[in-house]
This record gives sequence, structure tokens and C-alpha cells, in this order.
Amino acid sequence: MPSEFDMINRYFAQANLTPSSDDKNCLLSIGDDCALLQLPDKTLALSIDTLSSDVHFPCDAPAFLIGYRALMVNLSDLAAMGATPAYFTLALTLPWADEQWVSDFAQGLSEAAKPHAIYLIGGDTTRGPLSITIQVMGYVQPTHALKRSGAKVGDAIYVTGTLGDAAAGLQIIQEELEGSESADYLVQRYYQPSARVEVGKALAGVASSAIDISDGLLADLSHILKASGVGARVLADQVPLSSMLLSFTSKVTARDWALTAGDDYELCFTVSPDKENELQAVSKTTGVAITKIGEITKSETLQCMDEHNQPIDFLTLGFRHF
Ligand code: ADP
Ligand code: MG
Repeated sequence: MPSEFDMINRYFAQANLTPSSDDKNCLLSIGDDCALLQLPDKTLALSIDTLSSDVHFPCDAPAFLIGYRALMVNLSDLAAMGATPAYFTLALTLPWADEQWVSDFAQGLSEAAKPHAIYLIGGDTTRGPLSITIQVMGYVQPTHALKRSGAKVGDAIYVTGTLGDAAAGLQIIQEELEGSESADYLVQRYYQPSARVEVGKALAGVASSAIDISDGLLADLSHILKASGVGARVLADQVPLSSMLLSFTSKVTARDWALTAGDDYELCFTVSPDKENELQAVSKTTGVAITKIGEITKSETLQCMDEHNQPIDFLTLGFRHF
């Protein structure tokens, strides 16, 4: 069966549907975290994501958390582009008109929107299976946009925060394991990811490429590799794991989740070695931990090495819908 990426490339990213390469207004279309549209005096970064009940969140999840997560997941794509959030639209499909649910959902949206100064400007409300589609819009200087295609051989690969927490959180929710302090933290990491908007903005002019980790570190990094025509060597034991995750599961499982499970919405990006000092300043000013996990290679393959420098084989690099 074709993956969603095969289908996008085959049917949607085709010449008679997409802008031509000499289109002056569309600077970037299908294939990155956001599209870029040139306005008379600004560049608009746009991205849209759908969250479907039971695929992207458990159907009985609290409405507040669904709203919060739906907006954060979209803000994460603006972060991955280095864009400043501005506005969003919301298409909401509901099986029922439950006012309390809608009120809680809106409260979740509002809590996620406030710190990022992003404002709702329109949408659509219909009846059907629960599904939330949000389109976010932000501004970015085109020369500073963090594309997937800029990674160069010799660049170091970094991630923000810690990885694997959201996978543990999802398991805790699904198996109803709530109750301990670490479980509460991990569940919160699943429902309330922190879009790394400030880091993305600060990486403008520092990072050579970036993506947000929605499907899994290795799966998302491989999009950078493909777009940039390069390979990578990732050191599995350098991938940052939280103490909460390590208190919940074994080191091996934690490492596998960090490498191949999605939902963390941290950033993965590449930086040329001569910009190391500027990168340290980004971590300092944003207060977000940044960890080096490997480097870009010429080989056009993705190698992930264990602590004995032996390659690790994975059945899957990350989540795929198809
Ligand atoms: P992300 O994980 O950053 O949200 P996706 O994996 O959903 O990105 O999509 C990869 C790229 O393909 C993006 O540039 C997105 O805009 C584009 N894309 C996805 N689905 C469609 C579609 N149905 N029509 C056109 N473009 C699409
Ligand atoms: Mg993305």
C-alpha cells in the first residue's frame, strides 16, 4: 500500500495542481512544514493539520486537552519554519452539539493561543465524526525560513527538549495507568506539547534545516535527508530522555520510543559546526535544552548507531497513516 507521502507526491505535488517554479508569489509549496506565500511587504507561512478522533487523540479525551493539542500541533509547524504565529482558522466537525464540550474545547484553544499571540479569524462547523482541522498562518523572512532542504554534509544534528515522553503518555492513557507523578508528567507531554516557536525564531540564520518531530525522530529526520540529498549518522545513546520516562520504562524501550515514536513536537534541526556558539546562545535565551545527536553525512542513508557503535535496525522509522 502506498504511504501518505507516496500519494501526496503522486497525486497532489503534480504540475497541473501546484504553482509553477516561476510563480513570484508562492515561494514554497508542497513538501515542507509550511508553504510560503509572498505578500506585498511580508512572507506568509501556512500549514494545515487535521486531528481525527481515535487516530490523533482518544475519542473520550477531555475537550480542553483536544483543543489545546490541536492548536499546539499546528503551531509546531510554524516553529519548524522559524515563523512568527499570527492567525488561524478552525474547521470543526462534531457528532453532537454539546455546549459544555465546545466551551471546554475553546478554552483549550485559547490557553494554547495566548502565549503565542495567535488569533482565530474564521472556520467552519459541521456535523459528523469528531475531527478538527486547523490552518495556521505566520510571518517569516524568506531568507530566514527554516526549510527541510538546507542540511549540508558535516552539519551537526540537534533536537530540542526530550523525546519519547509522548509515546509513554499515550500508553498510560490507553492502558489507564494514571496515578503516579511520572505518569502525570508523561500524559501531559502527550496532551500538551510545547510548540518550540521561540526556538524556531531564534534559529533563523543559525540552523541550515529544520523539521518538527510529529511522526518519530528517524522518520522526520529522513524527510530532511531526502529534501537535502544527504545522509545522517545518529548516536542513539545521545538522544535526550527525561528522568520521568526512564522511571516509567526500560532504557531500551525509552530509546526506541525516542527514536521512532511521534507526538513529541520537539524540533530536529541541523547546524554548521562554525555556528556552535550562536546555537549555545539560542539555548540560553530560550531556556530550552538543545542536544546534539549526530551528524549529516554524504552517504544519503540514515544510520543509527548503538552505544557500541553498531548499527541498529528498525522495523519502522516512525508513524505512518498508510
Ligand atoms: P507535517 O507532518 O509537517 O504536517 P505532512 O507530513 O502532513 O507534514 O505533509 C508533508 C507535505 O505534504 C507538506 O508540505 C504538506 O503541505 C503536503 N501535503 C500533505 N497532504 C496534502 C494534500 N492532501 N494535498 C496537498 N499537499 C499535501
Ligand atoms: Mg511539520
